[in-house]
Parts: sequence; C-alpha cells; structure tokens
Amino acid sequence: MISRVCLVHYHEIGLKGKNRSRFENQLVVNLRHALNTFPIADIARISGHLLISLTDDSCVHQLAHAVSLVPGVARVSIAFRTAQREEEFCSAAVQALAEAGEFVSFKVHAHRAATNYHLHTLELNRLVGSVLCEAYPTKKVDVHNPDITVYVNVVQGDVFVYAASLIGVGGLPVGTAGKVVSLLSSGIDSPVATWMVGRRGANVIPIHFSGRPMTADTSEYLCQDIVEKLRGAGIIGRMYVVAFGEVQREISLAVPQGLRIIMYRRMMFKIAERIARIEGAQALVTGESLGQVASQTLENIAAVNEVVEIPIFRPLIGTDKQEIIQRAQQIGTFEISSQTAPDCCTLFMPRRPETRARLAEVHTAWEQFDHEGFIDKLLDEIEYIDFGGCPSYRPPKSMRTYHAILGSAQSSFVKE
Ligand code: ATP
Ligand code: MG
Repeated sequence: MISRVCLVHYHEIGLKGKNRSRFENQLVVNLRHALNTFPIADIARISGHLLISLTDDSCVHQLAHAVSLVPGVARVSIAFRTAQREEEFCSAAVQALAEAGEFVSFKVHAHRAATNYHLHTLELNRLVGSVLCEAYPTKKVDVHNPDITVYVNVVQGDVFVYAASLIGVGGLPVGTAGKVVSLLSSGIDSPVATWMVGRRGANVIPIHFSGRPMTADTSEYLCQDIVEKLRGAGIIGRMYVVAFGEVQREISLAVPQGLRIIMYRRMMFKIAERIARIEGAQALVTGESLGQVASQTLENIAAVNEVVEIPIFRPLIGTDKQEIIQRAQQIGTFEISSQTAPDCCTLFMPRRPETRARLAEVHTAWEQFDHEGFIDKLLDEIEYIDFGGCPSYRPPKSMRTYHAILGSAQSSFVKE
C-alpha cells in the first residue's frame, strides 16, 4: 500500500556528536507540539531522518509547510511510503514526479540503507528511470544537472520515494540553547530579532513596554498578534507586559529633554534584566541596528548597556532595514508591525533627542529620579500572558509564588 509521509532532514544536529540524541529528542517534542492540529500517526527516527506519518494523507502538503517552520528543520520532503515491491515504488515515482512542478530533465537517485535488498542502487536507478521515461516521454534524463531528482530510499521493510522538498528554516531545536529575554516592541525589527535567536535554539521570553495608562493598549495587542504569528516556530511560551506610561511621565518631568530616551531605555533594560534573573534567562535580545535611529548610536548604546550585567544580543546590528523587512515578510510579522500603535516609544518623546550622550550627564540625569523605586513598582505590577506556544518553556517558580501572593489581578490576564 502506498501512503504519504514527510521526511525531515536536519543538518547541524547531525554534527553535534554526543548531544545528537538530545537534539533529536527535542526536535521530536517540538514537532509534536507544532503539529498538534494535524492527524499525526507517528513521528519516528529512521537512518538520520525523522519520519512523520499521517492517519489522513490528504493534508501532507500543509503538514510539510508546518514542519518547515520549526527550528532545526533543514529540509522536509513530501514522500510516498511503499512496500519493497517494484510496481509500488515505481508507481510512487511516477506520482512524485507529477507533483514536483515544472521540469524538463530529471534523474533518479536510489539509496539502499537495507543492504539485504536484492537490487543494487544502479539497478534501482535503471529500473525506476525506465518506468519514468515511459510515463514522461517528452522529458529528458540528465544525470549531471537535472531540474528534478527523484529519490528512492530503500530502508528496512519500506521504500521512500520523493521528488518535492521544502527548505526549512534551519537553526537548532528550541530548548537546546537555554532562555533569553527579548525586548519586543510592535515595530518591524524586534520581532525579527526575537525569531532569529529562537531559531538558534533559544527559548525566547518577550517583554513589552506599553505606554498604558497614558496611551491605549493597542501595541500590546499587536505584540500578542506577533507572538501568535510566530507560534508555528514554537519559540515563545510567555510574554511579559509592563505598563510604563506613568513612570515615563515622571521621568520626563525630572530629566533634561534630550536624555529622556536614554533614561527610558536604561529602565527597560534593567527591568528586562530582573525578569531574566527570575526566569533563569542568560541574555537580553533587542532589535537594534547600528545608526538606525537616535538611540542606536554607539555612544547611546554604551550609555544604556552599562546599567546591566547580563549579555545583550543584537542580532540585527549590522543589517539594513530592507533586509529586516524581507525577513519580517518571510516570518509573517511585517503586516502586523506596519500598523501604527502608540507605545512607550512614542510617549513623551523629546523634540531633539541626544544622539551622542555624554556619560557624566547621563549619570547625573539617572540620579534625578527614583529609578530603583520605579523598577520595583513596575515589577510589582508586571503582567504576563501564557501562550502555550513553546513545549520546553517552564515558568519560573518564583513568579508562581509571586502571583499566588498578588491574587487575581494578573490571572485574569493569563491566556490559556
Ligand atoms: P523596532 O522596530 O524593533 O521597534 P526600532 O527601529 O523602532 O525597533 P527603537 O524604537 O529604538 O528602534 O527600539 C530599539 C529596540 O528597543 C527594539 O528593537 C526593541 O528591542 C526595544 N524596544 C523598543 N521599544 C520597545 C517597547 N515598547 N517594548 C519593548 N522593547 C522595546
Ligand atoms: Mg520601535
């Protein structure tokens, strides 16, 4: 009987030596989670691949697309599984070529993991090739530079045949690289930075600073939409939200206009660092790109960096806006980010922000308001939403205690 399966290929995991099985196990867990709306029969390991089988073959193409979004997947092939019978795997090869799109030339590439199978690879190539030549008389065989390759893998008990593959997002399975806290605005850049670090295997915990109560909460909803959009990648379990408006107003009244943004950002980084400590996260992530706006000059980056000890990752620092936009379009966040919403960044903005902050002036301004008191207050009032989007995410114990004490105010905000 011929059935449909997806074959998942992963590159880097194969290189990880002793860690290999940990990485493979995590990828299986993440795939199960990401594919929980599909009729999955099984996810199994077979000779350097993962094999995903279905109870209903009709959704194999949608399944392959969902698989391709999961970090750690280099490529996913939309395959046919057949018995080790010539008429079955030859018929599957004809069907595989039919759904491989436009092509002029092709070749067959057979591989025999089950070496006890009676046909050798050259014989398999010839056999399947001749059936395909008959089925597609106008197409040419080209063994050097074919448009399409039809793979025929003979494994123990089965044969897998495929011609069509989707390129996966690559990277490493989420949950194999620890936790990071990402400063997430509803702009274009930080969702991309968040996704990039998640793709490298990190469990990402976004923190969003909204202008509430001085602005509406639109930016918070946009950030929720962004997190939902990234759900297929399985990188985010929880998002924290800080209603920053009132404290911003106090800061704006206390410090010289030109230094306001730097003060806001120092506060944001310090609060994010505290959340990272509570969460057991080992780095912060931002969407900054050198020189893009006033706060992203080297001087201003230094004036903000110095308030925290935790490493700060800026995966976009050397990228141009156009490249970031392309990536945002690819991961599906661009449209959401293109909607304008006031957040803490648009609130109490100076007319002329300082672009080359002098540290002595920064330090003086920093002492002109009760930054530690404000940080404690904002952390006391912090809210969070659980998305259930990341199977390796474990909420911190200290937060649970914290919220047991706080009672119902935050729990109403928790999204199941
Ligand atoms: P983005 O498109 O990510 O908003 P940006 O080009 O608008 O970035 P800034 O507004 O200077 O640049 O923000 C730089 C970085 O600071 C952002 O990429 C993000 O990591 C963080 N950040 C900015 N605003 C917020 C916010 N309201 N909440 C959380 N993080 C923020
Ligand atoms: Mg912004």
